Amino acid sequence: MLLCCMKTINDVFARYKKELQHIYDTNETEAITLLVISQINELSKAKIKAFPETIITTGVAEKLEDILIELKTGKPVQYVLGTTEFYGLPFLVNPSVLIPRPETEELVEWAISSVDKGQNGNILDIGTGSGCIAISLKKNLAQFDVSAIDISADAIKTAESNAALNKVDVNFIRQDILKYAEIELPKSSIIISNPPYVTLHDKTQMHTNVTDFEPHTALFVPENDPLIFYKAIADFAKVNLLPGGLLFFEINESYGEETVKMLAGKQFKNIELRKDMSGRDRMIKAVNV
Ligand code: GLN
Repeated sequence: MLLCCMKTINDVFARYKKELQHIYDTNETEAITLLVISQINELSKAKIKAFPETIITTGVAEKLEDILIELKTGKPVQYVLGTTEFYGLPFLVNPSVLIPRPETEELVEWAISSVDKGQNGNILDIGTGSGCIAISLKKNLAQFDVSAIDISADAIKTAESNAALNKVDVNFIRQDILKYAEIELPKSSIIISNPPYVTLHDKTQMHTNVTDFEPHTALFVPENDPLIFYKAIADFAKVNLLPGGLLFFEINESYGEETVKMLAGKQFKNIELRKDMSGRDRMIKAVNV
């Protein structure tokens, strides 16, 4: 389409709205457009809103057009731009890692608020992906040593770049949690995980820009064993958490009660199930005895 059509910020909004309407609703398109313009044109979102008649250069219009072509394939804007924000921090993202979600920020918040002042020790994040949980915990609980594992070498690489970007030290290790007997680490005060939990049934309800673009190893679990990662992590945590240590899980909203039962069966105590901001069962905290 013609670059002549995007001369002002208003033109960009109009063009993005028209071209993306088959993928996103009006609010989503507006949020995406705002994000893209603010990043490419280095303008604050407030300025973009306040001065929609601002003229953009041909160079900027060209970049915005290239981005639009990628967005039209359904690729999430975070992958197109290569960055996102999590817990107030910048993160590099690419299709080897899941895009950090706001629900996961709530899990991080819960973990941070569960730590006593002056407490220290080790924290372990299992299935770290972009490193968003491990890095935001290290940033806010600097007195802890933080380690994180992931099965994917590309995810570990991305997580390492993110630790450098955020100027924190996290020990990233490539490991498969399903082979947890092979993992040797110092005992932790906190083990935290947002493992894969999407079933084939859930997949049918999901937007194709998640299922077509985000890494399947980070998302999907077998239909006949949806708690496969939770059971492995709980068994690993029984041995690798200190007595009184905390286990935090992000969970599939449909398996809250089942996950609580599984943990109770493994003698975890004070098991607490919490809802996310959308009112869905989304996270669990449990204490090791
Ligand atoms: N919350 C993610 C989604 O719905 C899934 C995350 C996960 O499987 N751990 O896309």
